[in-house]
Amino acid sequence: MSDSAEALAAILARIEAARKSAIAPAPFTTLVAVTKTHGEDVIRPVLLAGHRSFGENRVQEAKAKWPALKAGFPGVELHLIGPLQTNKVREAVALFDVIHTLDRPKLADVLKAECERAKRWPTLFVEVNTGEEPQKAGVAPKDAPSLIAHARDELGLPVKGLMCIPPAGENPAPHFALLQKLARETGLALLSMGMSEDFETAIRFGATHVRIGTAIFGARKQPAKD
Ligand SMILES: *Cc1c(COP(=O)(O)O)cnc(C)c1O
Repeated sequence: MSDSAEALAAILARIEAARKSAIAPAPFTTLVAVTKTHGEDVIRPVLLAGHRSFGENRVQEAKAKWPALKAGFPGVELHLIGPLQTNKVREAVALFDVIHTLDRPKLADVLKAECERAKRWPTLFVEVNTGEEPQKAGVAPKDAPSLIAHARDELGLPVKGLMCIPPAGENPAPHFALLQKLARETGLALLSMGMSEDFETAIRFGATHVRIGTAIFGARKQPAKD
């Protein structure tokens, strides 16, 4: 086995173990293998091992890498986990199956128009800035319910869950707990939370999607924007 396929197997085992020891895990926890900055050399072994859920944080990079891999490996589900600008919505809707970063009403409006035009409806997560960090993307927790009402209830978009990235260097548990509470209050079933360093904690708080890069593919070659 290659290094990345071996690391994938180890992470899948840790996810299963964390689910077993959790008091109330989600009905399932999907591993989104985050491939940003990484090339086909490390991605292919993971595809050959049967894995199909992958995450990228930049539309342009995903566009350069994934159409060929998607054609070669049927069933790939591609997740956009980085910020989405309205001028990239057309490309994003064409390429991604799941978008984790809906964070403002205007973006919902543009997504709605493009989904109708393209007749493609990626599953959407609303990104919540649980730490209320000024430099970070995501809707403030207090504004999340009205954004969800606008996107899901008024526009009819397939908003199914919430996503967060806790502040670096803080205990992530209160952030995961807040996201779980917001999802309950707004009737959303999916929770995208937990990365290489904290996915086991996220699973305890009901994560349905953990986004893991470094622990599978190693350190990134160049600093990736988040
Ligand atoms: C890069 C990234 C991840 C993966 O982070 P690792 O620490 O490498 O596991 C998860 N979520 C988002 C939004 C990212 O940008």
